[in-house]
Amino acid sequence: MSTFSIAVHGGAGTILRDQMTPEREQAHRRSLGAALDAGFEVLQQGGSAVNAAKASVICLENDPLFNAGRGSVFTNKGEHEMDAAIMDGKTQKAGAVAAVRNVRNPIELAWKVMESSEHVFLSGEGASEFAKLQDVPFEPDDYFFSQFRYDQWKAISHSGDYALDHSAPGGAGGDAATGDRKFGTVGAVACDSHGNLAAATSTGGMTNKLYGRIGDTPLIGCGTYAKNDTCAISCTGHGELFIRAVAAYDVSCLMEYRGCSLDEAMSIVVNKKLVALGGEGGMIGVDAAGHVAMQFNSQGMYRGSRSNHGSAIIDIYR
Ligand code: ASP
Repeated sequence: MSTFSIAVHGGAGTILRDQMTPEREQAHRRSLGAALDAGFEVLQQGGSAVNAAKASVICLENDPLFNAGRGSVFTNKGEHEMDAAIMDGKTQKAGAVAAVRNVRNPIELAWKVMESSEHVFLSGEGASEFAKLQDVPFEPDDYFFSQFRYDQWKAISHSGDYALDHSAPGGAGGDAATGDRKFGTVGAVACDSHGNLAAATSTGGMTNKLYGRIGDTPLIGCGTYAKNDTCAISCTGHGELFIRAVAAYDVSCLMEYRGCSLDEAMSIVVNKKLVALGGEGGMIGVDAAGHVAMQFNSQGMYRGSRSNHGSAIIDIYR
């Protein structure tokens, strides 16, 4: 039987066991498990890698624990601007949106851009208008509000700094005293029973980012990439450095031009090239044999995978 598999992430960063309560850890594990199940079910029913990756990401966008959709961080204007992208490795069609506001599921909108427009990438107001035409659901500002994210923003809003929401304990990354830390951009990669690959990534970006700032997530080849001949990749981390490294596409190039395995290629990009630039974070990937790989150069990464040959594996720490 051919292998089909799905992997998800919920962000990478300073995620330490001794700063996590058992309840919080369980909540993250439950959410990652539910996202894996949603994607796996699509694959089990013979669905496409694109639909599986989208289903997993929607699950994580709806969960306020993660920095995407409902749980998105605040910009320097005290608003939420979300980025997302999806790519089909079979056709190499892609859809992306940047700086969208009040859209319930930005990954759904990215998918609509891929499926129902002639374009690859829409941003801001034009993306919102397109969303309305496509009947994509919107939510009021309160839906995206959480006291935790607000406090995270307030802690650095006067500094002019911006931060990964999963770094800087006690500051933008969380409260060191209570260990109350909520992390991460979300993403999924999938290989379906026909050997087709897909990647999907969604984020609220970085806390106190300048409004209008766009990270690596929606940039095809930087935070998200899929090509059946090589791999599907979804990244998380300090977006500016992932953009400069063209991180996701570099993994694919190392496989295509240098004959690296998925694991080797990801390790070169995450542990050498990104480290050399000072780019904290990680990525998940899958190849056309359904083999999943996960690499990060930070303390931890919320992550999980499941294939038709085994049960779900969920991990957080190094
Ligand atoms: N990569 C995302 C960005 O820079 C942030 C993250 O992964 O948490 O927008």
